[in-house]
Amino acid sequence: MRYSGFRVLREGLTGNKGWKAAWREPDPKPEYDIIIIGAGGHGLATAYYLSKEFGMRNIAVLEKGWLGGGNIGRNTTIIRSNYLLPGNEPFYEMSMKLWENLEQDTNYNSMVSQRSILNLIHTDGQRDAFVRRANAMFLAGADAELADEAQLRRELPFLNFDNARFPIKGGLYQRRGGTARHDAVAWGYARGADSRGVDIIQNCEVTGIDIENGRVRGVQTVRGPIRANKVAMCVAGSSGRVAAMAGMRLPIESHVLQAFVSEGLKPVLPGVITFGAGHFYVSQSDKGGLVFGGDLDGYNSYAQRGNLPVVEDVVEGGMALMPMIGRARLLRSWGGVMDMSMDGSPFIDKTETEGLYFNGGWCYGGFKATPASGFCYAHLLAKGESHPVAREMRLDRFKLGHLIDEKGMGNQPNLH
Ligand SMILES: Cc1cc2nc3c(=O)[nH]c(=O)nc-3n(C[C@H](O)[C@H](O)[C@H](O)COP(=O)(O)OP(=O)(O)OC[C@H]3O[C@@H](n4cnc5c(N)ncnc54)[C@H](O)[C@@H]3O)c2cc1C
Repeated sequence: MRYSGFRVLREGLTGNKGWKAAWREPDPKPEYDIIIIGAGGHGLATAYYLSKEFGMRNIAVLEKGWLGGGNIGRNTTIIRSNYLLPGNEPFYEMSMKLWENLEQDTNYNSMVSQRSILNLIHTDGQRDAFVRRANAMFLAGADAELADEAQLRRELPFLNFDNARFPIKGGLYQRRGGTARHDAVAWGYARGADSRGVDIIQNCEVTGIDIENGRVRGVQTVRGPIRANKVAMCVAGSSGRVAAMAGMRLPIESHVLQAFVSEGLKPVLPGVITFGAGHFYVSQSDKGGLVFGGDLDGYNSYAQRGNLPVVEDVVEGGMALMPMIGRARLLRSWGGVMDMSMDGSPFIDKTETEGLYFNGGWCYGGFKATPASGFCYAHLLAKGESHPVAREMRLDRFKLGHLIDEKGMGNQPNLH
């Protein structure tokens, strides 16, 4: 069924009896060509592009809980392509271009809103670094704009310029950055994949990976064994646990990241604002809530909930940047499990087991990557070789010494 304004009108006039479920609830078949573990944003996008771009349909996406219940439904919805390094920037710019056409492509309202993202500058050294980053963005075909303090004073008068803990000297804008409705992204990809024949199987936890003579043969699940000659891990915060089923140890730690939303307010924030010095970032949802977050909780965990010291830390960051936020009431907070890699960059690669593939290490930034991650993972699964923009996202890059360390922080996940 195609969604359109005309369809809404017609259904409205005929008692809304014609709507169909957006995807089926199939039982697992005994065998598929490809099994994708994890129905988060990346797993569903992979299934979508496999079926749409590469004509592969005999695919199952196995999800231990409900579709979209992981980080795809817990993030702060920011999309951008403002990276520095050649291993990252062209990939994220490809993602941004896919975002720009996502709703037409999937025929689903994902509320992609290019309302801009601004990274604040507090020191001369930071300005130099951001100018360099802007040039790298131009080279990859992205947009960037440097703003001085006077411009920001005009555009964002509520920021604490005069009495700030860290003086605001300017900022780096990406006007094409912004937000998208996170769970609608999962639903749109799920509907598109399902309509092309992909089986999305919820409440089907993978409990083991079957390997014979160095080759993957399928998976064990709570609903029985399922065979496949290609198995694609795509489980974000559970990467370490699922890879361990295949005897792999990953350069990834799992950490909790929290986010917060205030009561609904009248429009006050024009776009996304990030405050690196205090680690606080904020945007305003279409419902009016201020959506914000900051640092990781700071220790390894698989719990999808956070702790109070970080609540205090994030709110302090908000108060330092825009004291008016102290007047808003906090509505909700929640947490998700982040797959923090040792250089802050992701992996889309084959593993040493034939037929077994890995996608993970997305850290705080995997939502914006969802379209390109799905496309490049589908490319790898279908063609057996990396997509050019994901070529450096290799699992053996630590062994080879070709890290993709955007911030030059080394192997300390909480600093990326
Ligand atoms: C609070 C917070 C804020 C964030 N903000 C942003 C942001 O603003 N911008 C941005 O770009 N990124 C952001 N991120 C990061 C982003 O959400 C993630 O990097 C991205 O969603 C991860 O990919 P995914 O959607 O596939 O993960 P998930 O949605 O977590 O999908 C993985 C799925 O695998 C399933 N699974 C796990 N184990 C098994 C198993 N054994 N068998 C079957 N299924 C299994 C899980 O249930 C889950 O549904 C944020 C994350 C959090 C938590």
